Amino acid sequence: MRGLIALTTLFVAVLGKETFEGHQVLRIVAKDETQLSLIKNLEDMVEFELDFWRGVTDVATPVDVRVPFHSLQSVKIHLESQDIEYVIMIEDLQVMLDEEQQEMESNRHCCTELNYIYSFQDMLVAENPNLVSKIVIGQSYEGRPLNVLKFSTGGTNRPAIWLDTGIHSREWVTQASGTWFAKKIVTDYGRDPAITAILNKMDIFLEIVTNPDGYYYTHNSNRMWRKTRKPNSGSNCVGVDPNRNWDAGFGGAGASNNPCSETYHGPRAHSESEVKSIVDFVKSHGNFKAFVSIHSYSQMLLYPYGYTRTPCKDQTELHNLAKKAITDLASLYSTSYRYGSIINTIYQASGGTIDWTYNQGIKYSYTFELRDTGRYGFILPANQIIPTARETWLALMAIMDHTSKNTY
Ligand SMILES: [Zn+2]
Repeated sequence: MRGLIALTTLFVAVLGKETFEGHQVLRIVAKDETQLSLIKNLEDMVEFELDFWRGVTDVATPVDVRVPFHSLQSVKIHLESQDIEYVIMIEDLQVMLDEEQQEMESNRHCCTELNYIYSFQDMLVAENPNLVSKIVIGQSYEGRPLNVLKFSTGGTNRPAIWLDTGIHSREWVTQASGTWFAKKIVTDYGRDPAITAILNKMDIFLEIVTNPDGYYYTHNSNRMWRKTRKPNSGSNCVGVDPNRNWDAGFGGAGASNNPCSETYHGPRAHSESEVKSIVDFVKSHGNFKAFVSIHSYSQMLLYPYGYTRTPCKDQTELHNLAKKAITDLASLYSTSYRYGSIINTIYQASGGTIDWTYNQGIKYSYTFELRDTGRYGFILPANQIIPTARETWLALMAIMDHTSKNTY
């Protein structure tokens, strides 16, 4: 078996991309707590090689899981024998990926490939030297630059807002939205009074490709890659979940100590340079007032905490602001979002980004989960990218505006 896996890996390396032919995404719905824990057990059945797109939460929330072709029959029999209901959300993942590829090739100006984003960033700086600059805050494991765009109208070490997209590399709508946000800031500054007022007082930092190795890998080898690309010692499995690697409840419940897991927390807090570089930057800057980390999918706006049930001390304010933000978001296309603390809205997750930033004193710490709710999941069609960015921008503006007005 191990030989077969090694051989398969070799073929992938030589022949190119991993195929997902015959893989299905199942939506599993628990009737009660007993069924929920049976579904939870699937996470430990490594022989199925399941990929949880949306993990186990509570009875009310469905679980989305990618099932490889080789275990499809067994998983379905397993579920049916326990009377657990499921529906097939994606019939054949590869068909959807082929469509995504075709869409990309037919629209060469758009917007997803790594080199495109790198040159886009340089172009933006060149065309707007008085507003935009590029800071390299570190290097990825494979040596790619960790670029951050700084939008600033002057001053020294002004109070600041952080935005990042793509820390989970397969969440492609987020990096695409990040490029759209960058253009939007440049276009609206001096025209839109709200963003102009924010930028006359604060700086905005935007990291579009927060996990560049993973992002490159999603384009060239495995579209479903989520983690970093650093090898793990003592394991054949590569990568750490960069949203479980932060020093906030590190290693606790809701993160895995198995290097093969999609939620592996890593050997120690901040072991990943993609994380450590942000940690160092945020600490040395010392004046961040808001920190927004953007993921997909499932349409949620979340605030701390994820690792503990203890409410954060600004819960009321963060909750009310989240409500305002998702109301603004919905005003454009009626896209409906849930909101609340991470632990109460999705599940317990330890070592997450915004728990760490909040504990550093950055009050307005939020995480988005963008579109959709699972029809396409991570393979959101191209014609939904700009609408997603546009509606998300309204929520970001609500958060940035509130932050600016409450920063003295
Ligand atoms: Zn994510």
